[in-house]
Amino acid sequence: MLRYKKVTIKVGSNVLTRADGTLDFTRMSALVDQIAELKRQGVEVVLVSSGAGAAGRSVIHPTDKLDAVSARQLYSSVGQVRLLHRYYMLFSDYGLSCGQVLTTKESLSTRDHYLNQRNCMRVMLDNDVIPIINENDAISVTELMFTDNDELSGLIATMMDHEALIILSNIDGIYNGNPKEPGTEVIREVYPGKRDLSEYIQTSKSSFGRGGMQTKTNIASKVADEGIEVIIANGKRDNILIDLLNSEKDTLCTRFVASPEPTSSVKRWIAHSEGFAKGELHVNANCTLALEEGDSAVSILPVGVNKIVGEFEKDDIVLIFDHEGNQIGVGKAQMSSEEALEKIGKKGEKPIVHYDYLYLFE
Ligand code: GLU
Repeated sequence: MLRYKKVTIKVGSNVLTRADGTLDFTRMSALVDQIAELKRQGVEVVLVSSGAGAAGRSVIHPTDKLDAVSARQLYSSVGQVRLLHRYYMLFSDYGLSCGQVLTTKESLSTRDHYLNQRNCMRVMLDNDVIPIINENDAISVTELMFTDNDELSGLIATMMDHEALIILSNIDGIYNGNPKEPGTEVIREVYPGKRDLSEYIQTSKSSFGRGGMQTKTNIASKVADEGIEVIIANGKRDNILIDLLNSEKDTLCTRFVASPEPTSSVKRWIAHSEGFAKGELHVNANCTLALEEGDSAVSILPVGVNKIVGEFEKDDIVLIFDHEGNQIGVGKAQMSSEEALEKIGKKGEKPIVHYDYLYLFE
């Protein structure tokens, strides 16, 4: 029995590269074999693949020393072609088609952009084309980049309403201490409400990718809280994808168990749009309390707001802060900051952020 029928699979640079930084074609081929098998069994797969930078770095050797941005642009422009060419050839051996979607954070910044990208991936999947996603590293502006492809893959999994996000790295999962010390084990399951693993996380980053274990855990928690199972597993292990989807096997990995209350599609988009916020709403103690109780649908009314920071238009993303200045959520404004400023503190006004467009952290 298969555990999931719709999955986003993220493959990190460390899985796709050898110790010397060159692309590991054998590993790529093994992963494609497994994805082809999952496809044969009827699983919908979206692949988020890193490795462009690494693939370019091993073939282009600039004579002049480049600054970090130019180096990223140069390596990824060449590496992305190498990477996709290889995937294309490997999938075609199975009679499968794949296509490339390169994205930037900005191209997901409004609901229209977001729906446009979702449509692109949906039409690919409906026509049996495997979408292979990466950030457009060649033209992304450094300050506006995704933290890493873990963040991007979380967004894609929620966007496509998938049942699971599988993040493949070069370790077996999240350990409860230093993996080099005896007695340290992989944390097998992480449940809703108990997702703070900071005491276990090593701060060292993986060598070839941008991400680290802390970002993986943050993203995994957020996505699982939205109702999608997240698995962190070792992509260098043979047959890992097949084993993870086989419900009869207890494969070594860390599984962030999905929250039983899935978040609506629009709230998920809002949750992942925090980086585009144009302003802040600071709510008073009564409103904080009402939001914390959380079991009824509470909107943010002007009467509950005591401060507005920044300038925003209707439909812009705003951050929500409680009366003590802690950020408690993200929302889409139903009116401009100018209109909201006229109304704050007043009773009987329409909401500044309606409940349907409000995402509160757990
Ligand atoms: N987009 C980068 C690449 O393909 C990887 C980003 C990351 O390390 O997550 O090289």
